[in-house]
Amino acid sequence: MAEAAYVVAGSLEEALALAETHSGHYAFAAGGTDLQLRRQQELEAAPLIIDLSGIGDLGGVRAGRHRLEIGALTTLAELATSAAVRRWCPMIAEAAASIGTPVLRMTATAGGNLLVANRCTWYNQSAAWRGAAGTCLRNSGDTCLVTGGCGQCYSRAVSDLAPALIALQARVVLRDAHATREAALEDLYLADGLHPQAQPGKDAILTALRLAHRPERWCYRKLRRRDSVDYTSLTVAGARDADGGVRVCIGGVSMSPILVSAGPGDANLPALTAEARRKCKTVDNDLLPLSYRRNMIDVFLEELWRELGENGHERRTGRVP
Ligand SMILES: Cc1cc2nc3c(=O)[nH]c(=O)nc-3n(C[C@H](O)[C@H](O)[C@H](O)COP(=O)(O)OP(=O)(O)OC[C@H]3O[C@@H](n4cnc5c(N)ncnc54)[C@H](O)[C@@H]3O)c2cc1C
Ligand code: SF4
Repeated sequence: MAEAAYVVAGSLEEALALAETHSGHYAFAAGGTDLQLRRQQELEAAPLIIDLSGIGDLGGVRAGRHRLEIGALTTLAELATSAAVRRWCPMIAEAAASIGTPVLRMTATAGGNLLVANRCTWYNQSAAWRGAAGTCLRNSGDTCLVTGGCGQCYSRAVSDLAPALIALQARVVLRDAHATREAALEDLYLADGLHPQAQPGKDAILTALRLAHRPERWCYRKLRRRDSVDYTSLTVAGARDADGGVRVCIGGVSMSPILVSAGPGDANLPALTAEARRKCKTVDNDLLPLSYRRNMIDVFLEELWRELGENGHERRTGRVP
């Protein structure tokens, strides 16, 4: 593992000033659970780590009458148990509770989860494993080891909070040394496995998430080999408004979370399924077989459609039979 200098930022301003000074040669750490794993696997080697975890202003959940704000440093364990979050929409707590393990959730943060690096079975391995398998586009090689092509990396977006929060129309607050801005959460992501995150942008910090929209119904499904530890193989989150408008977001099967939506009166299952199939660029880079994951997108959408309907009910977690 490469050595790095380590600074605990005392304030947001200090972190942003350090980032500007060392632009391109540092990494932010929140809980550090993703960053440290990538460093150990020699996939990340920034010479400076700027630890954000001491910045008090970035933590906690603030609930207003018409708005819920979640600080970027709020841990997944806090999200999973927060009464204010559950009152707003239990899907957020359910998504948080489905991530990793109990110990991981006590350290991993909401912001870090939204910015977790994409995964691929051919890349997220030890240096020795990769040495045997060969390099790929993401690792200074010239072909994708999954497809054999040389133009596109299909690494998977694996954040489980992202599909739930995108279905709920969350917005993110981003701050750099000069300005604060807000964006739709889906705008954080690009359908590009090499550079999957367009935001928070150069030397900027994701400070908070904002929700101002409450759905009438929601549904969350996750597929993985075991109910703990494993990253998602497919996550589907959906929300339906009182007027019948539907937003569904699919994670774990493409380079970014995939949003499919339909306005009041337009929503129907065949159209949503066709749009999802068209947009999801799913390849064989997960531990579960490709055809099974593709089929499960249809299965989850069908279940979600039933449960968002008039007689909908709550959760069930998908699992390999
Ligand atoms: C065994 C295991 C199982 C897992 N299973 C799942 C799973 O089922 N579902 C799932 O969604 N995830 C899963 N994960 C990923 C896990 O959720 C992430 O590691 C975690 O959420 C990252 O949060 P963190 O605070 O530790 O981020 P860090 O590791 O600190 O940071 C992650 C990335 O985000 C950047 N960053 C962090 N915070 C900010 C910020 N505020 N502003 C700007 N940049 C920032 C960092 O520079 C880094 O690039 C798993 C991880 C492990 C190790
Ligand atoms: S999808 Fe292809 S290019 Fe991308 S990380 Fe995997 S093997 Fe490498």
